[in-house]
Amino acid sequence: MDVTEFGSPGAFAATYAALVGLIWARYFLVAGLFYWLLWGRPEEKVRADRLAAQRPTRGTVSFEIRMSLLSSVIYAVPGAMVIEAYKAGGTQIYTSLATPLEWVWIPVSIFIYLAIHDTYFYWTHRAMHHPKLFRAMHLAHHRSRHPTPWAGFSFHPWESIISAWPLPLATFFIPIHIGAVIFVLVVMTIAGIANHAGWEVLPRSLIHSAFGRHVITATHHNLHHTDYNANYGLYFRFWDKLMDTDKGLSKPFTPQTRHL
Ligand SMILES: [Zn+2]
Ligand SMILES: [Zn+2]
Repeated sequence: MDVTEFGSPGAFAATYAALVGLIWARYFLVAGLFYWLLWGRPEEKVRADRLAAQRPTRGTVSFEIRMSLLSSVIYAVPGAMVIEAYKAGGTQIYTSLATPLEWVWIPVSIFIYLAIHDTYFYWTHRAMHHPKLFRAMHLAHHRSRHPTPWAGFSFHPWESIISAWPLPLATFFIPIHIGAVIFVLVVMTIAGIANHAGWEVLPRSLIHSAFGRHVITATHHNLHHTDYNANYGLYFRFWDKLMDTDKGLSKPFTPQTRHL
């Protein structure tokens, strides 16, 4: 690849600004929808299991939105770099689906990308729980003891700077179809928002099936916000189980568990 093909600083700035707008829009759209469906209507109309012992406060929501908007500004930097590099032909993102191998590679590449993200997240997340790093880097995320859908990307800028890189970097080394890139981003968005929703929207039967034993859901991640030393993973329970940090699932909220 010829680096002169990367484009001008002006082109990068335009891509970056458009990407920030796009990331903000998808955040307000998805988090707003989850928030309205789960917290904006009478509880008897919500067909999900409530996890949060406390209803969202205005202060929590406002903080989560401000932090998520800020993290988007940071995430858009490597994102715009990938787009500009893609336009110059410098990434491993492809568009053709001509051979059977290219079709088979789609689910394989999606799994590889999610596994890379999950592994990077688990270990950096555990590191940020070290007492020397926690206050400066990760306390902002844990200010949401009873997180709301708006907390999906509520990270301190230091945490965002650290967590922004694995997926963009992977596009330079591991071939992936552009549709699979979009799929991974959709999974990332929905998982981040749903797992902080304060409600479990998935059926109980699924949570207690093989899916729930291996994939992280709101019921699993909610426990991380009440018990800081457990359930560090992002998509899969693999690392938590291997490293003995998986403390299982949180219990649905009932008035009897209000004291939790
Ligand atoms: Zn944490
Ligand atoms: Zn969280």
